[in-house]
Amino acid sequence: MIAASGPSLEARVYSVPLRTRFRGIDVRDGVLVRGPAGWGEFSPFWDYDLAESRRWWAAAEEAALTGWPEPVRDSVPVNVTVPAVGPERAHAIVTASGCRTAKVKVAEPGQSPADDVARVEAVRDALGPDGAIRVDANAAWDVDTAAARIAELDAVGLEYVEQPCATLAELAALRRRIDVRVAADEVVRRAADPLAIDLREACDVVVLKVQPLGGVRAALRVAEAHGLPCVVSSALESSVGIAAGVALAAALPELPFACGLATVALFTGDVTSAPLLPVDGALPVRRPEPDRLTEVAAGPVVDARWRARMTAVRAA
Ligand SMILES: [Mg+2]
Repeated sequence: MIAASGPSLEARVYSVPLRTRFRGIDVRDGVLVRGPAGWGEFSPFWDYDLAESRRWWAAAEEAALTGWPEPVRDSVPVNVTVPAVGPERAHAIVTASGCRTAKVKVAEPGQSPADDVARVEAVRDALGPDGAIRVDANAAWDVDTAAARIAELDAVGLEYVEQPCATLAELAALRRRIDVRVAADEVVRRAADPLAIDLREACDVVVLKVQPLGGVRAALRVAEAHGLPCVVSSALESSVGIAAGVALAAALPELPFACGLATVALFTGDVTSAPLLPVDGALPVRRPEPDRLTEVAAGPVVDARWRARMTAVRAA
């Protein structure tokens, strides 16, 4: 039990190695908290400061104390996520997933444009002509570089390009130069006020993530404020955090694209014996019970770090 401000919540810290280095991390860790409405996840990445972590805590509290809005669908189509791996591995990941949409990481530090092209070509080969491919550059490019790289990558046919450049102004400038749809991720979820930014010139699609936006209801308000097609993506959570993303995707009035919620496949293990992994390219709308918390429990140092972080964010 923790005794900071707010109600007392049971807290359990997990730590799971990833299959492939992703977003610069090899091991994913976080806290699961249990309240009267069930389990929630608090797992801001370690490079996020206290101020930015507060919305992540709000999402965990919503899950544990309030629960989520009623779903309007019972299944959520999802994409397979392909890290910055070589073409053979990329092909195998897509084939094993059963998904018809793939999101491919590009512009990873230390990799060349040719590596990215080889990866998306392998993914197209694995999906066949009817599959959808989107790429995520995580804000790595300036406008000229983005325009050139996207022209090359679009040879395989792209559904959209996610966060090709860092700023709203750059995204708007790029969008006037390319035919591929632009999706906004970091520029929304890391904004001081995701409701107030003006996305109209900058993107065609909005990426929603539950923890960075402060919960399922907060993310639904972001979707409503912008009036653009939305995709729900994970923040690389355990199945407990993914369940919140599934709840958001299930509650959105429209869901025109597959969601980026199949990322438990990047973990070597999970907090539950019934992980939220896709079957035939979709996730069921359900809330897994974390019955493997002992098996994935973090060691004492990581456990103490998370409890201190949680106490700090609750007191902030
Ligand atoms: Mg992204």
